[in-house]
Amino acid sequence: MIYHDVIVIGAGLAGMRAAIEASKSADVGIISKVYPTRSHSGAAQGGINAVLHPGDTFDSHIFDTVKGSDYLGDQNAIEVLCKEAPENIYEIEHMGAIFSRTDDGKIAQRELGGASFPRACFFGDLTGHTLLHLLYEQLLKSNVKIYNEWFVTKLIKENGRCTGAICYNIQKGNFELLKAKAIVLATGGYGRAFARTTNAHINTGDGMALAYEIGAPLADMEFVQFHPTTLFGTNILVSEGVRGEGGYLKNNKGERFMERYVPSKMELAPRDVVSRCIQIEVREGRGFENEYVHLDVTHFGEAKVNEKIPQVKELARKFAGVDIVKEQMPVQPAQHYSMGGIRTNIWGETNIKGLFAVGECACVSVHGANRLGGNSLLETVVYGRRIGRKVAEYIASAEFQKISESHLKDEEKRIKKLIDRKGKESNSVIRKELSEILTFKVGVFRVGNEIEEALNEIKKLQDRAERVSIQDKELVYNTQLTSVLEMEFLLTLSEIIALGALNRKESRGAHYRNDYPERDDAKWLKHTIVTKKDDSIKISYEDVSITKYQPQKRVY
Ligand SMILES: Cc1cc2nc3c(=O)[nH]c(=O)nc-3n(C[C@H](O)[C@H](O)[C@H](O)COP(=O)(O)OP(=O)(O)OC[C@H]3O[C@@H](n4cnc5c(N)ncnc54)[C@H](O)[C@@H]3O)c2cc1C
Repeated sequence: MIYHDVIVIGAGLAGMRAAIEASKSADVGIISKVYPTRSHSGAAQGGINAVLHPGDTFDSHIFDTVKGSDYLGDQNAIEVLCKEAPENIYEIEHMGAIFSRTDDGKIAQRELGGASFPRACFFGDLTGHTLLHLLYEQLLKSNVKIYNEWFVTKLIKENGRCTGAICYNIQKGNFELLKAKAIVLATGGYGRAFARTTNAHINTGDGMALAYEIGAPLADMEFVQFHPTTLFGTNILVSEGVRGEGGYLKNNKGERFMERYVPSKMELAPRDVVSRCIQIEVREGRGFENEYVHLDVTHFGEAKVNEKIPQVKELARKFAGVDIVKEQMPVQPAQHYSMGGIRTNIWGETNIKGLFAVGECACVSVHGANRLGGNSLLETVVYGRRIGRKVAEYIASAEFQKISESHLKDEEKRIKKLIDRKGKESNSVIRKELSEILTFKVGVFRVGNEIEEALNEIKKLQDRAERVSIQDKELVYNTQLTSVLEMEFLLTLSEIIALGALNRKESRGAHYRNDYPERDDAKWLKHTIVTKKDDSIKISYEDVSITKYQPQKRVY
Protein backbone atom coordinates (compact mmCIF):
# COMPACT_ATOMS: atom_id res chain seq x y z
CA MET A 1 0.00 0.00 0.00
CA ILE A 2 1.18 3.53 -0.79
CA TYR A 3 0.56 6.36 1.69
CA HIS A 4 0.48 10.13 1.31
CA ASP A 5 -1.13 12.84 3.40
CA VAL A 6 -2.66 14.17 0.21
CA ILE A 7 -3.16 12.45 -3.11
CA VAL A 8 -3.99 14.68 -6.04
CA ILE A 9 -5.57 12.87 -8.98
CA GLY A 10 -4.90 14.75 -12.20
CA ALA A 11 -1.79 16.69 -13.21
CA GLY A 12 -3.20 19.43 -15.42
CA LEU A 13 -2.96 23.02 -14.24
CA ALA A 14 -5.46 22.63 -11.39
CA GLY A 15 -3.92 19.45 -9.99
CA MET A 16 -0.33 20.63 -10.24
CA ARG A 17 -1.11 24.02 -8.71
CA ALA A 18 -2.90 22.35 -5.78
CA ALA A 19 -0.12 19.78 -5.29
CA ILE A 20 2.67 22.39 -5.32
CA GLU A 21 0.86 24.49 -2.74
CA ALA A 22 -0.09 21.61 -0.44
CA SER A 23 3.45 20.20 -0.57
CA LYS A 24 4.76 23.26 1.28
CA SER A 25 3.60 21.58 4.50
CA ALA A 26 2.27 18.14 3.57
CA ASP A 27 3.47 14.93 1.98
CA VAL A 28 1.81 14.89 -1.45
CA GLY A 29 1.53 12.39 -4.29
CA ILE A 30 0.12 13.31 -7.70
CA ILE A 31 -1.30 10.80 -10.15
CA SER A 32 -1.86 11.24 -13.87
CA LYS A 33 -2.98 8.82 -16.53
CA VAL A 34 -0.67 10.63 -18.98
CA TYR A 35 2.57 12.54 -18.50
CA PRO A 36 1.53 15.81 -16.82
CA THR A 37 2.62 17.94 -19.78
CA ARG A 38 0.19 16.05 -22.03
CA SER A 39 -2.82 17.15 -19.99
CA HIS A 40 -5.49 19.07 -21.88
CA SER A 41 -4.57 22.35 -20.14
CA GLY A 42 -1.66 22.49 -22.58
CA ALA A 43 -4.04 23.08 -25.48
CA ALA A 44 -5.35 26.40 -24.15
CA GLN A 45 -4.58 29.20 -26.53
CA GLY A 46 -6.48 32.41 -25.85
CA GLY A 47 -5.57 33.66 -22.41
CA ILE A 48 -6.11 33.99 -18.70
CA ASN A 49 -8.15 36.84 -17.21
CA ALA A 50 -7.15 39.31 -14.53
CA VAL A 51 -7.78 42.94 -13.71
CA LEU A 52 -4.33 44.49 -14.04
CA HIS A 53 -4.43 47.88 -15.63
CA PRO A 54 -6.14 51.24 -14.95
CA GLY A 55 -9.58 51.47 -16.49
CA ASP A 56 -10.49 47.91 -15.49
CA THR A 57 -12.07 47.05 -12.12
CA PHE A 58 -12.91 43.98 -10.02
CA ASP A 59 -16.56 44.96 -10.20
CA SER A 60 -16.41 44.87 -13.96
CA HIS A 61 -14.72 41.42 -14.08
CA ILE A 62 -17.19 40.08 -11.51
CA PHE A 63 -20.21 41.51 -13.33
CA ASP A 64 -19.04 40.25 -16.76
CA THR A 65 -18.64 36.77 -15.26
CA VAL A 66 -22.02 36.84 -13.49
CA LYS A 67 -23.75 38.08 -16.64
CA GLY A 68 -21.83 35.62 -18.81
CA SER A 69 -23.01 32.81 -16.48
CA ASP A 70 -26.61 33.92 -17.16
CA TYR A 71 -26.90 34.53 -13.41
CA LEU A 72 -26.39 30.89 -12.51
CA GLY A 73 -22.78 31.37 -11.32
CA ASP A 74 -22.33 31.58 -7.55
CA GLN A 75 -21.39 35.17 -6.87
CA ASN A 76 -19.38 34.40 -3.71
CA ALA A 77 -17.18 32.04 -5.78
CA ILE A 78 -16.90 34.53 -8.65
CA GLU A 79 -15.72 37.24 -6.25
CA VAL A 80 -12.89 34.98 -5.07
CA LEU A 81 -11.97 34.16 -8.67
CA CYS A 82 -11.74 37.79 -9.77
CA LYS A 83 -10.22 39.33 -6.65
CA GLU A 84 -7.45 36.73 -6.34
CA ALA A 85 -6.64 36.88 -10.05
CA PRO A 86 -3.96 39.62 -10.16
CA GLU A 87 -1.80 38.18 -7.36
CA ASN A 88 -1.92 34.79 -9.07
CA ILE A 89 -0.84 36.28 -12.39
CA TYR A 90 2.13 38.05 -10.81
CA GLU A 91 3.02 34.91 -8.88
CA ILE A 92 3.06 32.87 -12.10
CA GLU A 93 5.22 35.47 -13.74
CA HIS A 94 7.64 35.40 -10.79
CA MET A 95 7.83 31.63 -11.17
CA GLY A 96 9.33 32.34 -14.58
CA ALA A 97 6.66 32.56 -17.26
CA ILE A 98 6.99 35.89 -19.01
CA PHE A 99 3.67 36.98 -20.50
CA SER A 100 3.44 38.74 -23.88
CA ARG A 101 4.11 42.48 -23.40
CA THR A 102 2.87 45.82 -24.67
CA ASP A 103 5.35 48.16 -26.35
CA ASP A 104 6.00 49.89 -23.03
CA GLY A 105 6.78 46.59 -21.30
CA LYS A 106 3.53 45.96 -19.43
CA ILE A 107 1.69 42.62 -19.49
CA ALA A 108 -0.37 42.74 -22.70
CA GLN A 109 -4.07 41.84 -22.57
CA ARG A 110 -6.56 40.98 -25.28
CA GLU A 111 -10.34 41.07 -25.35
CA LEU A 112 -12.17 37.75 -25.23
CA GLY A 113 -15.90 37.14 -25.68
CA GLY A 114 -18.31 38.69 -23.18
CA ALA A 115 -15.61 40.85 -21.54
CA SER A 116 -16.13 44.59 -21.23
CA PHE A 117 -12.37 45.24 -21.11
CA PRO A 118 -9.36 43.57 -22.73
CA ARG A 119 -8.31 41.54 -19.67
CA ALA A 120 -6.92 38.25 -20.95
CA CYS A 121 -3.15 37.90 -20.39
CA PHE A 122 -1.51 35.54 -22.85
CA PHE A 123 1.65 34.00 -24.24
CA GLY A 124 0.98 34.45 -27.99
CA ASP A 125 -1.53 31.68 -28.59
CA LEU A 126 0.39 29.15 -26.48
CA THR A 127 -0.99 30.24 -23.11
CA GLY A 128 -1.90 26.81 -21.71
CA HIS A 129 1.27 25.20 -23.04
CA THR A 130 3.47 27.78 -21.34
CA LEU A 131 1.61 27.60 -18.04
CA LEU A 132 1.59 23.81 -18.01
CA HIS A 133 5.35 23.57 -18.57
CA LEU A 134 5.96 26.26 -15.98
CA LEU A 135 3.97 24.42 -13.32
CA TYR A 136 5.60 21.12 -14.27
CA GLU A 137 9.02 22.67 -13.60
CA GLN A 138 7.74 23.85 -10.22
CA LEU A 139 6.35 20.39 -9.54
CA LEU A 140 9.74 18.79 -10.28
CA LYS A 141 11.38 21.31 -7.98
CA SER A 142 8.96 20.48 -5.15
CA ASN A 143 9.03 17.23 -3.20
CA VAL A 144 5.74 15.99 -4.63
CA LYS A 145 5.93 12.32 -5.65
CA ILE A 146 4.71 11.95 -9.24
CA TYR A 147 2.97 8.81 -10.49
CA ASN A 148 3.00 9.03 -14.28
CA GLU A 149 0.71 6.84 -16.36
CA TRP A 150 -1.27 5.61 -13.40
CA PHE A 151 -4.99 5.36 -14.04
CA VAL A 152 -7.38 5.68 -11.10
CA THR A 153 -10.16 3.12 -11.47
CA LYS A 154 -11.95 3.56 -8.17
CA LEU A 155 -12.24 5.79 -5.13
CA ILE A 156 -12.65 4.25 -1.71
CA LYS A 157 -15.13 5.48 0.85
CA GLU A 158 -15.29 3.98 4.31
CA ASN A 159 -17.44 5.24 7.18
CA GLY A 160 -18.48 8.26 5.17
CA ARG A 161 -14.91 9.35 4.40
CA CYS A 162 -12.87 9.16 1.26
CA THR A 163 -9.81 7.24 2.38
CA GLY A 164 -8.01 6.18 -0.75
CA ALA A 165 -8.05 5.10 -4.37
CA ILE A 166 -7.17 2.17 -6.56
CA CYS A 167 -4.88 2.70 -9.50
CA TYR A 168 -3.94 0.74 -12.56
CA ASN A 169 -0.21 1.20 -13.18
CA ILE A 170 -0.35 1.28 -16.97
CA GLN A 171 3.43 0.87 -17.43
CA LYS A 172 3.86 -2.11 -15.14
CA GLY A 173 0.44 -3.66 -15.53
CA ASN A 174 -0.39 -4.05 -11.84
CA PHE A 175 -2.91 -2.51 -9.45
CA GLU A 176 -2.08 -0.46 -6.36
CA LEU A 177 -4.01 0.60 -3.29
CA LEU A 178 -3.33 4.18 -2.27
CA LYS A 179 -4.21 5.59 1.09
CA ALA A 180 -4.52 9.28 1.96
CA LYS A 181 -5.96 11.64 4.54
CA ALA A 182 -7.34 13.68 1.68
CA ILE A 183 -7.91 13.17 -2.02
CA VAL A 184 -8.09 16.06 -4.47
CA LEU A 185 -9.76 15.34 -7.80
CA ALA A 186 -8.44 17.46 -10.68
CA THR A 187 -9.29 15.21 -13.60
CA GLY A 188 -10.63 17.77 -16.11
CA GLY A 189 -13.65 17.59 -18.42
CA TYR A 190 -15.65 14.97 -20.36
CA GLY A 191 -15.48 16.45 -23.89
CA ARG A 192 -15.07 13.03 -25.51
CA ALA A 193 -18.71 12.26 -24.75
CA PHE A 194 -19.32 14.39 -27.86
CA ALA A 195 -18.39 13.55 -31.44
CA ARG A 196 -17.57 17.16 -32.19
CA THR A 197 -15.26 18.40 -29.46
CA THR A 198 -12.11 20.46 -29.06
CA ASN A 199 -11.04 18.24 -26.18
CA ALA A 200 -8.16 15.79 -26.01
CA HIS A 201 -8.89 12.05 -26.21
CA ILE A 202 -8.08 11.72 -22.50
CA ASN A 203 -10.95 14.03 -21.48
CA THR A 204 -13.44 11.40 -20.44
CA GLY A 205 -14.78 12.79 -17.17
CA ASP A 206 -13.21 10.06 -15.03
CA GLY A 207 -13.11 12.01 -11.77
CA MET A 208 -16.72 13.15 -12.04
CA ALA A 209 -17.93 9.60 -12.58
CA LEU A 210 -15.67 8.21 -9.82
CA ALA A 211 -16.92 10.81 -7.33
CA TYR A 212 -20.53 10.23 -8.35
CA GLU A 213 -20.12 6.49 -7.75
CA ILE A 214 -19.20 7.05 -4.10
CA GLY A 215 -22.06 9.49 -3.49
CA ALA A 216 -20.60 12.93 -4.21
CA PRO A 217 -23.16 15.23 -5.83
CA LEU A 218 -22.61 16.57 -9.36
CA ALA A 219 -23.99 20.01 -10.21
CA ASP A 220 -25.36 21.61 -13.39
CA MET A 221 -24.23 18.85 -15.71
CA GLU A 222 -26.69 19.96 -18.42
CA PHE A 223 -24.56 23.04 -19.03
CA VAL A 224 -22.13 22.09 -21.77
CA GLN A 225 -20.18 24.78 -23.57
CA PHE A 226 -19.98 24.74 -27.34
CA HIS A 227 -17.15 26.80 -28.74
CA PRO A 228 -18.22 28.66 -31.88
CA THR A 229 -15.01 28.36 -33.87
CA THR A 230 -13.46 24.95 -34.36
CA LEU A 231 -11.92 23.73 -37.61
CA PHE A 232 -14.45 21.94 -39.78
CA GLY A 233 -13.44 18.28 -40.09
CA THR A 234 -11.36 17.82 -36.94
CA ASN A 235 -12.97 20.33 -34.54
CA ILE A 236 -9.57 21.51 -33.41
CA LEU A 237 -10.04 24.78 -31.59
CA VAL A 238 -9.53 28.12 -33.28
CA SER A 239 -8.99 30.36 -30.28
CA GLU A 240 -11.33 33.18 -29.39
CA GLY A 241 -8.08 35.16 -29.40
CA VAL A 242 -8.40 35.20 -33.20
CA ARG A 243 -11.62 37.19 -32.94
CA GLY A 244 -10.09 39.11 -30.02
CA GLU A 245 -7.34 40.24 -32.39
CA GLY A 246 -9.96 41.33 -34.95
CA GLY A 247 -10.99 38.25 -36.95
CA TYR A 248 -14.35 38.34 -38.83
CA LEU A 249 -17.05 35.68 -39.03
CA LYS A 250 -18.59 35.53 -42.52
CA ASN A 251 -21.41 33.59 -44.16
CA ASN A 252 -21.62 32.40 -47.79
CA LYS A 253 -22.75 35.88 -48.89
CA GLY A 254 -19.57 37.35 -47.46
CA GLU A 255 -21.59 39.17 -44.74
CA ARG A 256 -20.30 39.70 -41.21
CA PHE A 257 -23.52 38.13 -39.98
CA MET A 258 -22.97 38.92 -36.28
CA GLU A 259 -24.07 42.43 -37.19
CA ARG A 260 -27.63 41.13 -37.44
CA TYR A 261 -27.58 39.45 -34.03
CA VAL A 262 -25.31 41.37 -31.64
CA PRO A 263 -24.18 44.63 -33.29
CA SER A 264 -22.67 45.95 -30.04
CA LYS A 265 -20.26 43.05 -29.60
CA MET A 266 -20.12 41.52 -33.07
CA GLU A 267 -17.73 38.53 -33.11
CA LEU A 268 -16.96 39.05 -29.43
CA ALA A 269 -20.37 38.16 -28.06
CA PRO A 270 -20.17 35.28 -25.56
CA ARG A 271 -19.66 31.73 -26.84
CA ASP A 272 -23.18 30.42 -26.32
CA VAL A 273 -24.58 33.32 -28.33
CA VAL A 274 -22.06 33.12 -31.21
CA SER A 275 -22.47 29.32 -31.46
CA ARG A 276 -26.23 29.68 -31.87
CA CYS A 277 -25.82 32.44 -34.49
CA ILE A 278 -23.49 30.20 -36.55
CA GLN A 279 -25.94 27.28 -36.33
CA ILE A 280 -28.78 29.53 -37.47
CA GLU A 281 -26.76 30.85 -40.43
CA VAL A 282 -25.98 27.28 -41.50
CA ARG A 283 -29.52 26.04 -40.93
CA GLU A 284 -30.96 28.89 -42.99
CA GLY A 285 -28.70 28.12 -45.92
CA ARG A 286 -26.09 30.84 -45.47
CA GLY A 287 -23.27 28.48 -44.52
CA PHE A 288 -20.97 26.31 -46.61
CA GLU A 289 -21.74 22.63 -47.38
CA ASN A 290 -24.55 22.90 -44.78
CA GLU A 291 -21.88 22.63 -42.10
CA TYR A 292 -19.76 25.70 -41.42
CA VAL A 293 -19.07 29.42 -41.82
CA HIS A 294 -15.82 31.26 -42.43
CA LEU A 295 -13.43 32.92 -40.00
CA ASP A 296 -11.43 35.54 -41.84
CA VAL A 297 -8.08 37.06 -40.80
CA THR A 298 -6.83 37.85 -44.28
CA HIS A 299 -6.87 41.58 -43.37
CA PHE A 300 -4.27 40.97 -40.57
CA GLY A 301 -1.21 40.65 -42.82
CA GLU A 302 1.49 38.03 -42.31
CA ALA A 303 3.45 39.86 -39.58
CA LYS A 304 0.45 40.10 -37.23
CA VAL A 305 -0.54 36.50 -37.88
CA ASN A 306 3.00 35.32 -37.09
CA GLU A 307 3.24 37.36 -33.94
CA LYS A 308 -0.23 36.93 -32.44
CA ILE A 309 -1.67 33.64 -33.67
CA PRO A 310 1.23 31.47 -34.90
CA GLN A 311 -0.27 28.24 -33.55
CA VAL A 312 -3.60 28.85 -35.29
CA LYS A 313 -1.72 29.43 -38.56
CA GLU A 314 0.07 26.11 -38.12
CA LEU A 315 -3.07 24.18 -37.09
CA ALA A 316 -5.15 25.56 -39.98
CA ARG A 317 -2.42 24.65 -42.46
CA LYS A 318 -1.97 21.13 -41.13
CA PHE A 319 -5.56 20.22 -40.35
CA ALA A 320 -7.63 22.21 -42.85
CA GLY A 321 -5.09 22.83 -45.60
CA VAL A 322 -5.70 26.57 -45.31
CA ASP A 323 -3.13 29.36 -45.37
CA ILE A 324 -4.87 31.85 -43.08
CA VAL A 325 -2.75 34.75 -44.28
CA LYS A 326 -4.50 34.46 -47.64
CA GLU A 327 -7.57 32.23 -47.12
CA GLN A 328 -10.57 32.02 -44.79
CA MET A 329 -10.88 29.19 -42.25
CA PRO A 330 -13.92 26.86 -42.26
CA VAL A 331 -15.32 26.84 -38.70
CA GLN A 332 -18.25 25.29 -36.83
CA PRO A 333 -19.29 24.99 -33.16
CA ALA A 334 -18.16 21.99 -31.09
CA GLN A 335 -18.25 20.89 -27.48
CA HIS A 336 -15.51 22.68 -25.57
CA TYR A 337 -16.01 22.87 -21.83
CA SER A 338 -17.97 21.43 -18.99
CA MET A 339 -19.55 24.03 -16.75
CA GLY A 340 -20.96 21.35 -14.44
CA GLY A 341 -19.00 18.96 -12.28
CA ILE A 342 -18.39 17.75 -8.75
CA ARG A 343 -20.19 20.15 -6.44
CA THR A 344 -17.82 21.95 -4.08
CA ASN A 345 -17.86 24.98 -1.81
CA ILE A 346 -15.33 27.80 -2.25
CA TRP A 347 -12.73 25.67 -0.42
CA GLY A 348 -13.03 22.77 -2.82
CA GLU A 349 -14.78 20.60 -0.23
CA THR A 350 -17.38 18.10 -1.43
CA ASN A 351 -20.06 16.58 0.77
CA ILE A 352 -17.71 13.65 1.49
CA LYS A 353 -15.09 14.19 4.18
CA GLY A 354 -11.59 13.99 2.78
CA LEU A 355 -12.71 14.44 -0.84
CA PHE A 356 -11.88 17.72 -2.59
CA ALA A 357 -12.24 18.75 -6.24
CA VAL A 358 -10.81 21.56 -8.34
CA GLY A 359 -10.55 22.71 -11.96
CA GLU A 360 -12.79 21.66 -14.80
CA CYS A 361 -13.99 18.49 -13.04
CA ALA A 362 -15.38 20.62 -10.20
CA CYS A 363 -18.38 22.90 -10.02
CA VAL A 364 -17.69 25.60 -7.46
CA SER A 365 -19.82 27.40 -9.99
CA VAL A 366 -17.82 30.35 -11.18
CA HIS A 367 -19.10 29.75 -14.74
CA GLY A 368 -22.78 29.02 -14.09
CA ALA A 369 -24.60 28.42 -17.36
CA ASN A 370 -21.85 29.70 -19.65
CA ARG A 371 -18.10 30.21 -19.15
CA LEU A 372 -16.29 33.28 -20.43
CA GLY A 373 -13.01 32.79 -22.29
CA GLY A 374 -9.98 33.19 -20.02
CA ASN A 375 -11.84 32.33 -16.83
CA SER A 376 -11.08 28.61 -16.80
CA LEU A 377 -7.30 28.86 -16.78
CA LEU A 378 -7.83 31.45 -14.09
CA GLU A 379 -9.98 29.05 -12.08
CA THR A 380 -7.28 26.37 -12.25
CA VAL A 381 -4.62 28.59 -10.69
CA VAL A 382 -6.73 30.63 -8.26
CA TYR A 383 -8.69 27.66 -6.94
CA GLY A 384 -5.73 25.28 -7.34
CA ARG A 385 -3.66 27.38 -4.95
CA ARG A 386 -6.60 27.91 -2.62
CA ILE A 387 -7.55 24.24 -2.42
CA GLY A 388 -3.87 23.31 -1.99
CA ARG A 389 -3.76 25.52 1.09
CA LYS A 390 -7.08 24.28 2.42
CA VAL A 391 -6.18 20.64 2.07
CA ALA A 392 -2.84 21.18 3.85
CA GLU A 393 -4.75 22.76 6.70
CA TYR A 394 -7.27 19.91 6.69
CA ILE A 395 -4.73 17.09 6.90
CA ALA A 396 -2.87 18.78 9.77
CA SER A 397 -5.68 17.72 12.08
CA ALA A 398 -6.88 14.61 10.22
CA GLU A 399 -5.79 11.04 10.90
CA PHE A 400 -5.16 8.21 8.46
CA GLN A 401 -8.20 5.96 8.52
CA LYS A 402 -8.14 2.20 8.41
CA ILE A 403 -8.53 0.91 4.90
CA SER A 404 -9.22 -2.68 4.02
CA GLU A 405 -6.88 -4.52 1.64
CA SER A 406 -9.95 -6.29 0.26
CA HIS A 407 -10.70 -3.23 -1.90
CA LEU A 408 -7.65 -4.03 -3.99
CA LYS A 409 -8.56 -7.70 -4.44
CA ASP A 410 -12.15 -6.83 -5.34
CA GLU A 411 -11.04 -4.33 -7.95
CA GLU A 412 -8.50 -6.76 -9.43
CA LYS A 413 -11.27 -9.34 -9.69
CA ARG A 414 -13.60 -6.84 -11.39
CA ILE A 415 -10.95 -5.92 -13.96
CA LYS A 416 -10.04 -9.55 -14.60
CA LYS A 417 -13.69 -10.32 -15.27
CA LEU A 418 -13.83 -7.42 -17.69
CA ILE A 419 -10.78 -8.69 -19.58
CA ASP A 420 -12.03 -12.28 -19.66
CA ARG A 421 -15.53 -11.31 -20.74
CA LYS A 422 -16.73 -12.82 -23.98
CA GLY A 423 -19.08 -10.50 -25.79
CA LYS A 424 -19.76 -9.32 -29.29
CA GLU A 425 -19.98 -5.58 -28.67
CA SER A 426 -17.18 -3.19 -29.58
CA ASN A 427 -16.01 -0.40 -27.33
CA SER A 428 -15.17 1.91 -30.22
CA VAL A 429 -18.58 1.43 -31.86
CA ILE A 430 -20.37 2.24 -28.60
CA ARG A 431 -18.20 5.29 -28.00
CA LYS A 432 -18.84 6.54 -31.54
CA GLU A 433 -22.60 6.07 -31.28
CA LEU A 434 -22.71 7.71 -27.86
CA SER A 435 -20.76 10.74 -29.01
CA GLU A 436 -23.05 11.23 -32.01
CA ILE A 437 -26.18 10.98 -29.86
CA LEU A 438 -24.91 13.76 -27.61
CA THR A 439 -23.69 15.99 -30.44
CA PHE A 440 -26.88 15.78 -32.47
CA LYS A 441 -29.56 15.38 -29.77
CA VAL A 442 -28.14 17.18 -26.74
CA GLY A 443 -26.18 19.86 -28.60
CA VAL A 444 -26.31 23.60 -29.25
CA PHE A 445 -30.09 23.56 -29.77
CA ARG A 446 -32.13 21.07 -27.74
CA VAL A 447 -35.76 19.87 -27.89
CA GLY A 448 -37.60 17.72 -25.34
CA ASN A 449 -38.49 14.78 -27.61
CA GLU A 450 -34.96 14.55 -29.02
CA ILE A 451 -33.43 14.57 -25.56
CA GLU A 452 -35.84 11.79 -24.58
CA GLU A 453 -34.70 9.80 -27.60
CA ALA A 454 -31.10 10.43 -26.57
CA LEU A 455 -31.79 9.16 -23.07
CA ASN A 456 -33.38 5.96 -24.36
CA GLU A 457 -30.50 5.38 -26.73
CA ILE A 458 -27.93 6.01 -23.98
CA LYS A 459 -29.66 3.42 -21.79
CA LYS A 460 -29.50 0.88 -24.63
CA LEU A 461 -25.80 1.61 -25.03
CA GLN A 462 -25.28 1.11 -21.28
CA ASP A 463 -26.85 -2.29 -21.71
CA ARG A 464 -24.73 -3.15 -24.75
CA ALA A 465 -21.62 -1.97 -22.91
CA GLU A 466 -22.03 -4.98 -20.59
CA ARG A 467 -21.17 -7.17 -23.57
CA VAL A 468 -18.04 -5.35 -24.73
CA SER A 469 -15.04 -7.62 -24.99
CA ILE A 470 -11.35 -6.78 -24.74
CA GLN A 471 -9.02 -8.54 -27.16
CA ASP A 472 -5.77 -7.55 -25.44
CA LYS A 473 -5.41 -9.87 -22.45
CA GLU A 474 -2.08 -8.49 -21.18
CA LEU A 475 -2.06 -5.93 -18.41
CA VAL A 476 1.04 -3.99 -19.49
CA TYR A 477 -0.04 -0.90 -21.46
CA ASN A 478 -3.51 -2.24 -22.04
CA THR A 479 -5.00 0.83 -23.68
CA GLN A 480 -8.04 -1.15 -24.71
CA LEU A 481 -8.78 -1.69 -21.04
CA THR A 482 -8.40 2.01 -20.18
CA SER A 483 -10.60 2.93 -23.11
CA VAL A 484 -13.35 0.57 -21.90
CA LEU A 485 -13.13 2.05 -18.40
CA GLU A 486 -13.38 5.52 -19.95
CA MET A 487 -16.41 4.42 -21.96
CA GLU A 488 -18.09 3.40 -18.70
CA PHE A 489 -17.40 6.83 -17.22
CA LEU A 490 -18.76 8.53 -20.35
CA LEU A 491 -21.93 6.44 -20.33
CA THR A 492 -22.62 7.35 -16.69
CA LEU A 493 -22.09 11.05 -17.31
CA SER A 494 -23.98 11.17 -20.61
CA GLU A 495 -27.14 9.95 -18.95
CA ILE A 496 -26.78 12.62 -16.28
CA ILE A 497 -26.16 15.35 -18.87
CA ALA A 498 -29.20 14.33 -20.92
CA LEU A 499 -31.43 13.94 -17.88
CA GLY A 500 -30.45 17.39 -16.62
CA ALA A 501 -31.12 18.86 -20.07
CA LEU A 502 -34.56 17.23 -20.27
CA ASN A 503 -35.45 18.27 -16.78
CA ARG A 504 -34.48 21.96 -17.12
CA LYS A 505 -37.44 23.47 -18.93
CA GLU A 506 -35.98 26.85 -19.78
CA SER A 507 -33.14 28.33 -21.83
CA ARG A 508 -30.16 29.70 -19.93
CA GLY A 509 -26.60 30.25 -21.13
CA ALA A 510 -25.36 27.26 -23.10
CA HIS A 511 -28.52 25.24 -22.44
CA TYR A 512 -30.98 26.28 -25.15
CA ARG A 513 -34.37 24.56 -25.42
CA ASN A 514 -36.29 25.29 -28.64
CA ASP A 515 -39.45 24.28 -26.77
CA TYR A 516 -38.66 26.62 -23.82
CA PRO A 517 -36.77 29.51 -25.41
CA GLU A 518 -36.96 31.91 -22.43
CA ARG A 519 -34.99 32.02 -19.20
CA ASP A 520 -37.33 31.34 -16.29
CA ASP A 521 -35.90 32.71 -13.04
CA ALA A 522 -39.05 32.05 -11.05
CA LYS A 523 -38.71 28.31 -11.58
CA TRP A 524 -35.12 27.72 -12.64
CA LEU A 525 -32.74 30.13 -10.95
CA LYS A 526 -31.23 27.16 -9.15
CA HIS A 527 -28.47 24.60 -9.49
CA THR A 528 -29.35 21.08 -10.57
CA ILE A 529 -27.80 18.65 -8.10
CA VAL A 530 -27.49 15.00 -9.08
CA THR A 531 -26.65 12.25 -6.61
CA LYS A 532 -26.47 8.48 -6.87
CA LYS A 533 -29.05 6.86 -4.59
CA ASP A 534 -29.80 3.13 -4.57
CA ASP A 535 -28.27 2.77 -8.03
CA SER A 536 -30.42 5.45 -9.61
CA ILE A 537 -30.07 9.16 -10.32
CA LYS A 538 -31.66 11.47 -7.79
CA ILE A 539 -32.19 15.12 -8.76
CA SER A 540 -32.42 17.93 -6.22
CA TYR A 541 -31.81 21.68 -6.32
CA GLU A 542 -29.68 24.25 -4.60
CA ASP A 543 -30.00 28.04 -4.42
CA VAL A 544 -27.60 30.22 -6.35
CA SER A 545 -25.38 32.50 -4.23
CA ILE A 546 -26.34 36.07 -5.06
CA THR A 547 -24.30 38.73 -3.28
CA LYS A 548 -24.61 41.92 -5.25
CA TYR A 549 -25.99 41.38 -8.72
CA GLN A 550 -29.69 40.69 -9.04
CA PRO A 551 -30.63 38.84 -12.22
CA GLN A 552 -31.40 41.05 -15.21
CA LYS A 553 -32.20 40.26 -18.80
CA ARG A 554 -28.95 39.20 -20.44
CA VAL A 555 -28.48 41.40 -23.49
CA TYR A 556 -25.26 42.37 -25.24
C1 LIG B 1 -8.48 23.45 -26.92
C2 LIG B 1 -8.77 24.17 -25.63
C3 LIG B 1 -8.41 25.51 -25.47
C4 LIG B 1 -8.69 26.18 -24.29
N1 LIG B 1 -8.33 27.50 -24.16
C5 LIG B 1 -8.57 28.15 -23.00
C6 LIG B 1 -8.14 29.50 -22.82
O1 LIG B 1 -7.51 30.11 -23.68
N2 LIG B 1 -8.43 30.11 -21.64
C7 LIG B 1 -9.10 29.47 -20.63
O2 LIG B 1 -9.32 30.07 -19.59
N3 LIG B 1 -9.48 28.17 -20.78
C8 LIG B 1 -9.23 27.50 -21.92
N4 LIG B 1 -9.62 26.19 -22.05
C9 LIG B 1 -10.16 25.48 -20.90
C10 LIG B 1 -9.02 25.11 -19.95
O3 LIG B 1 -7.84 24.88 -20.67
C11 LIG B 1 -9.35 23.85 -19.16
O4 LIG B 1 -10.63 23.94 -18.61
C12 LIG B 1 -8.37 23.66 -18.00
O5 LIG B 1 -7.04 23.77 -18.46
C13 LIG B 1 -8.60 22.34 -17.31
O6 LIG B 1 -7.57 22.12 -16.40
P1 LIG B 1 -7.65 20.92 -15.37
O7 LIG B 1 -6.36 20.96 -14.62
O8 LIG B 1 -8.91 21.01 -14.61
O9 LIG B 1 -7.75 19.60 -16.26
P2 LIG B 1 -6.81 18.97 -17.40
O10 LIG B 1 -5.75 19.89 -17.85
O11 LIG B 1 -7.72 18.41 -18.40
O12 LIG B 1 -6.06 17.79 -16.64
C14 LIG B 1 -6.71 16.61 -16.21
C15 LIG B 1 -5.70 15.67 -15.60
O13 LIG B 1 -6.38 14.57 -15.01
C16 LIG B 1 -5.70 13.36 -15.30
N5 LIG B 1 -6.68 12.27 -15.23
C17 LIG B 1 -7.92 12.22 -15.75
N6 LIG B 1 -8.51 11.04 -15.47
C18 LIG B 1 -7.63 10.33 -14.74
C19 LIG B 1 -7.63 9.03 -14.16
N7 LIG B 1 -8.68 8.20 -14.27
N8 LIG B 1 -6.54 8.61 -13.49
C20 LIG B 1 -5.44 9.43 -13.39
N9 LIG B 1 -5.38 10.65 -13.93
C21 LIG B 1 -6.46 11.10 -14.57
C22 LIG B 1 -5.11 13.60 -16.67
O14 LIG B 1 -4.02 12.74 -16.89
C23 LIG B 1 -4.69 15.07 -16.57
O15 LIG B 1 -3.40 15.16 -15.99
C24 LIG B 1 -9.35 25.50 -23.24
C25 LIG B 1 -9.70 24.16 -23.39
C26 LIG B 1 -9.45 23.52 -24.59
C27 LIG B 1 -9.92 22.09 -24.74
